Amino acid sequence: MAPESFFNGRLIIETGDITKKKVDAIVNAANSSLMGGGGVDGAIHRAGGPAILAECKNIRKKTYPDGLPAGEAVYTKGGNLPARYIIHTVGPVWHGGAKGEKELLRNAYFNSLSLAKELKLMSIAFPAISTGVYGYPKEEAAGIVYKVIHDFIKKNSLPEKIYLIFFNKGDADIFTETIQ
Ligand code: ADP
Repeated sequence: MAPESFFNGRLIIETGDITKKKVDAIVNAANSSLMGGGGVDGAIHRAGGPAILAECKNIRKKTYPDGLPAGEAVYTKGGNLPARYIIHTVGPVWHGGAKGEKELLRNAYFNSLSLAKELKLMSIAFPAISTGVYGYPKEEAAGIVYKVIHDFIKKNSLPEKIYLIFFNKGDADIFTETIQ
């Protein structure tokens, strides 16, 4: 099946492994330690090699000694990945929805897109931030992600292509069905 796209082809929905994606930047759903972890974070560090952790340690030392706060974004090189850069952001942990989760999830996407724009990147790929171990309900995340990308695209010409990479088809279907 052809991947679904929106906004004149600027937003593309795909299923697969984000570490394989050849784009200017992939986004990592990191934790605030920036020291790697499970899920997509672990997969990115494994595929990208030790240079990424070394850069993350440096960011911790120089800029974020207490860790990267939820909603913020930083970047490293892509190491052995096909992507040139990795934008590391921290999504919110779901605590029921009344602890600012929505705003933090919005910020994680917005600040990652803003960083990509600053770096003059043409293409960026996101995993489904916070919807794994962090427990954010997938339908609720879909609405927020669609809106923040819509608003960003309206105001900015870069990045030109924004990919949402879902790990399985069921998750991609939840996204496309929720936003329709
Ligand atoms: P979080 O802690 O932000 O919830 P997780 O890594 O636990 O992050 O999950 C985020 C999403 O990433 C989940 O939907 C999970 O299925 C997905 N995921 C895990 N590995 C990969 C991968 N290699 N490529 C794309 N998505 C992945």
